[in-house]
Amino acid sequence: MRKSPKDLVREEVLALTAYQVGDAAGMVKLDAMENPYALPPQLQREIAELVSGAAVNRYPDPQAPALKARLRQTMAIPEACEILLGNGSDEIIHIMIQALARPGAVVLAPEPTFVMYRAYALVNRMTYVGVPLAADFSLDCERMLAAIAQHQPALTFIAYPNNPSGNLYAEADVLRVLEAAPGLVVLDEAYHAFAQKSFLPRLAQHPNLVVMRTLSKSGMAGLRMGYAAGDPAWMREFDKVRPPYNVNVLTQLVAERLLAHVGVLEQQAAAIRGERARIQAELARMPGVTVFASDANFLLARLPDAVKAFAGMKQRGVLVKMLHGSHPLLEQCLRITVGTAEENTLCLAALRAAL
Ligand code: PMP
Repeated sequence: MRKSPKDLVREEVLALTAYQVGDAAGMVKLDAMENPYALPPQLQREIAELVSGAAVNRYPDPQAPALKARLRQTMAIPEACEILLGNGSDEIIHIMIQALARPGAVVLAPEPTFVMYRAYALVNRMTYVGVPLAADFSLDCERMLAAIAQHQPALTFIAYPNNPSGNLYAEADVLRVLEAAPGLVVLDEAYHAFAQKSFLPRLAQHPNLVVMRTLSKSGMAGLRMGYAAGDPAWMREFDKVRPPYNVNVLTQLVAERLLAHVGVLEQQAAAIRGERARIQAELARMPGVTVFASDANFLLARLPDAVKAFAGMKQRGVLVKMLHGSHPLLEQCLRITVGTAEENTLCLAALRAAL
């Protein structure tokens, strides 16, 4: 008898929901933490030329030496650390989880946070433990330490700054987690371009620390390039799980070239930080709106009626991220990505009208 997907697909997969991406056609797109700026025309031409000469008939170099060297130099990655590249940092999360997914092993993360830690843990039959943050989205350190002592996680994820709250946790709290965790701790610095702090300089002191980042929020979401740096002993194991040609020829070439012009990306990040401050101040003045502190390229806001505000904004052509209903701490919350000045003005006007 012919089997159906329900008969053959694993229970963990059947129970999951696919990652949701809203239809943004024709909208002011402020739902996915993308960089809103185009590249300067000269740099666009440089990239067009580079891509036209790319050897797309060949497999990419699986070690991507030019891109790794550029990353090491641009991001000041310590010599003693090995770099792992991924098709987005999503893939790096999955690679680390696959490598550590022994039966019964635990993945732990403060919550609410990036949803893929949990999704990949469950797909790989690991036990996932979400530890609630405090109501102001700071780390509830005592609760974290108690959960670590109880569950002995093989892998702990800390998004720094956190998504969807946008804040950086207190450095002392993160250090306490690092000291207490028996397994690997991944500091996910996806939003590092908008924060003034990083754990990268501390890698040498903590052999069980991996710092992971992405180029997605710095204007390269379409290229899909993430990287992690850490002790070679960990990285060697992860490299065995990595699909050999995971970072394609075009991504390697273009990411390397854009990083050579990191000044352009830094200027864009500075403009986004400036706009973030403006939106934050305007949101704070709106009646009944609470806006949370952010070190990322988005802001979390609590509104009198998030469902109504989301629908009203959408009707006015502005797409943001609805978070109400996804976690108890996110009641009546929306997440608004910082766009260009023009987009932000449209967004604020739409929200004011939709409140
Ligand atoms: N980590 C965090 C905290 C994120 O918010 C995201 C994207 N939303 C990612 C990782 C994944 O980013 P990418 O796969 O584009 O590198």
